[in-house]
Amino acid sequence: MRTVAAKAYYSGDGPASLSTRRSASRRFLAQVASSIPKTHDNSKASSYKVVVVGGGTAGLSVASSLSESLGNKAVAVVEPSDVHYYQPLWTFVGSGLKTFDESKMATSEVMPEKAQWIKDSVATFDPKQNTVKLANGETISYEYLVVAAGIQTNWGKIKNLPETLGKNGVTSNYSAQSVQKTDEFIKAFKGGNALFTMPSTPIKCAGAPQKIMYLAEEQWRKAGVRSQTDIKYFTGLGKIFAIDKYAKELLKICKARDLDINYFTDLAEIRPESKEAVFNVLGGEAKGTTLTLPYDFLHVTPPMGPPDFVKSSPLSNADGWVDVDKDTLRHNKFANVYALGDCSSLPTSKTAAAIAAQSAVLKNNLLGDIFGDRKVAKYDGYTSCPLVTGSDKLILAEFSGYTGQPLETFPFDQSKERYSTYFLTKEIIPEIYWKYMVKGSWDGPAKFRKLFGASA
Ligand SMILES: Cc1cc2nc3c(=O)[nH]c(=O)nc-3n(C[C@H](O)[C@H](O)[C@H](O)COP(=O)(O)OP(=O)(O)OC[C@H]3O[C@@H](n4cnc5c(N)ncnc54)[C@H](O)[C@@H]3O)c2cc1C
Repeated sequence: MRTVAAKAYYSGDGPASLSTRRSASRRFLAQVASSIPKTHDNSKASSYKVVVVGGGTAGLSVASSLSESLGNKAVAVVEPSDVHYYQPLWTFVGSGLKTFDESKMATSEVMPEKAQWIKDSVATFDPKQNTVKLANGETISYEYLVVAAGIQTNWGKIKNLPETLGKNGVTSNYSAQSVQKTDEFIKAFKGGNALFTMPSTPIKCAGAPQKIMYLAEEQWRKAGVRSQTDIKYFTGLGKIFAIDKYAKELLKICKARDLDINYFTDLAEIRPESKEAVFNVLGGEAKGTTLTLPYDFLHVTPPMGPPDFVKSSPLSNADGWVDVDKDTLRHNKFANVYALGDCSSLPTSKTAAAIAAQSAVLKNNLLGDIFGDRKVAKYDGYTSCPLVTGSDKLILAEFSGYTGQPLETFPFDQSKERYSTYFLTKEIIPEIYWKYMVKGSWDGPAKFRKLFGASA
């Protein structure tokens, strides 16, 4: 369980009123707690009722309640990382509005107590034998499998990006390392060309590539360098945002703040010596050509795709995602396999908010298979993207990726910039995440939507 001591240690910002001695002892206790491995004990049977692959947002949101319902060590979570991140906070971290430490927690602190943490990676799936093979060569068998392995960031697909990232004004909020550079580079910027990119591939949180542009623009305005700055946004897609209601408002903001939006342009190469970015033009009259622009600041959103080990497995669809039914989250070929989150084929925008709704459906249906005592639940494609447009405002996009229609919680027009939804996103939702979502007891705002009688 996540203790107060652990929180103070990992967040690095315990209350100032605590005595030095008390916080030192808290740090020590947290250090001891995190050093006790909660990992796989090889003497135990390598067979579980449920194996969850991935202990990120999606994996933990299902593993916690499944392990409560199924009992001690019936559920195993295969997760290689020692650190769990609340990635939605990285927009705020990249703009200096939150600290990096606030976005992370030791995996040992968030791993459900009744689950068995197997600290390794899955290398291959054998769904006909109901087994997964770990990177260490061990085979684990299961009765039910939940795949929650996230999306893969393909940094190497942009020429010179891996070696350029984090240096000389090139950054990205999409990795734990480089997000810590974004704020530093924004603050050090003295004017010039600032470029922000969004690839043509599916990505997690499709709004994040532009949120950081609004926050950087605001900082440069306040620092007095805006008039010497040219800001351009390049998206590989044909729209600024998938849902028209929000896209319309975003375009108004871009116009008012002189942000130049360019469509069908995909970053292909960075030339660090000449500080140039090269784009492939994917549409319009210049289709098939390249565009080369100088940069002084470059925020890159890398191309993403399904994890390689998922793509090459019998579980994947033609595009490489885990092939599940969009309503029930059950695999289309293997009935005892489920998937949710970014690695799944669910045709909606990939966000933590979507996972909250998906996890409730998945848990209901999987426990229904085991106990035969409940109606099949269906996922409606709900997802949300809090489009931060400044350090005190945002547009709270909530919609169904299945219908393309807004699915808003509050009884006001959420396409307008507001402080209330900004505060909710920055201060309240992170608390909901750590206190409820990773513990499996947050299934999204649907009940509040009904209560407020907001948009259907
Ligand atoms: C900058 C940024 C801003 C964002 N903003 C928002 C926002 O405002 N709102 C929102 O709702 N969402 C936002 N998101 C998206 C959200 O963070 C993701 O959609 C969510 O974390 C996906 O959860 P997941 O469990 O599918 O993947 P992850 O949380 O990435 O977890 C995947 C896990 O699988 C593990 N794994 C990988 N390979 C293996 C393997 N071979 N074997 C075992 N385990 C493996 C990984 O170590 C990882 O822990 C944002 C993301 C970013 C990066």
